[in-house]
Amino acid sequence: METRLKLAIQKSGRLHDDSLNLLKDCGIDLKNGINKLKTEADNFPLEVFFLRDDDIPQYVEDSVADIGIVGENVIYEKNKKVTVSEKLGFGKCRLSVAVGRNEPYSGCQFLANKKIATTYPVLVAKYLKEQKVDAEIHEISGSVEIAPGIGLADAIVDLVSSGSTLFMNGLKEVETIMHSEAVLIRQSKLGLAQQQILEKLLFRIRSVRKARHTKYILLNAPNGKLQEIISLLPGMKSPTVLPLAEPGWSSVHSVVNENDFWEIIEKLKEAGEQGILVVPIEKMIL
Ligand code: ATP
Ligand code: MG
Repeated sequence: METRLKLAIQKSGRLHDDSLNLLKDCGIDLKNGINKLKTEADNFPLEVFFLRDDDIPQYVEDSVADIGIVGENVIYEKNKKVTVSEKLGFGKCRLSVAVGRNEPYSGCQFLANKKIATTYPVLVAKYLKEQKVDAEIHEISGSVEIAPGIGLADAIVDLVSSGSTLFMNGLKEVETIMHSEAVLIRQSKLGLAQQQILEKLLFRIRSVRKARHTKYILLNAPNGKLQEIISLLPGMKSPTVLPLAEPGWSSVHSVVNENDFWEIIEKLKEAGEQGILVVPIEKMIL
């Protein structure tokens, strides 16, 4: 039987769609049946398990799954023997301390002898120890943000992305304990065949992620302006310049990083460029 790499992803929740989209962008088609516990890829030696995110580190440690996609926060909370292979750039959030909006918070000593509600007792205990603060940790399994309002706790530690949940519950964010994003984890004893499949998958993931941050730019320019324009465009090596059918004109092509994109476009406009075409890149093999 053909060797397949077993991947565990979240069954439903914040990481589910982005995990599936990453596989899709890697050109991996899953058989229908996402509502089931597991499915297979049609065109890549991959089997996919759908699980609760909390359980994924354990399944990977026990080799039930070879690899998994999970938030860093869950790995460090569960403290399992798994290796982080790759950061995936989605599911970004932070684990933060929040207190009532009107509390006179002036530093983490505020938390001394207070009750803190959280679903992350291990990370909170570690943080309090580092800060040399003694407090009571109340582990609850969800809806942490309502705990202060109902008198269950004086403070909470929870995941935050925009902060709107905290705001709506009358809380303010006062400390950040850790930053987190989705990562690909692997078990420590992968066989050679599985290792080779993982290398192929990682190669695809890296190509997709590089491409997501880059754009392809095309523009036409009179030859007299070429040097100025080329000096503004980075390109993978250097920009490509092709002659147009109209004498004295050229087409300039280049690859631009998302972070520099608007700045470069503004400079090109200042240099008098108008007809600039920007195209997404699907994959980038370097
Ligand atoms: P499950 O049913 O699988 O246990 P869950 O309710 O524990 O799901 P989700 O809320 O779907 O988990 O979050 C999954 C992961 O998404 C988190 O562990 C975290 O890494 C990431 N995440 C990103 N932004 C946020 C956020 N604002 N709040 C919570 N989690 C976030
Ligand atoms: Mg969970």
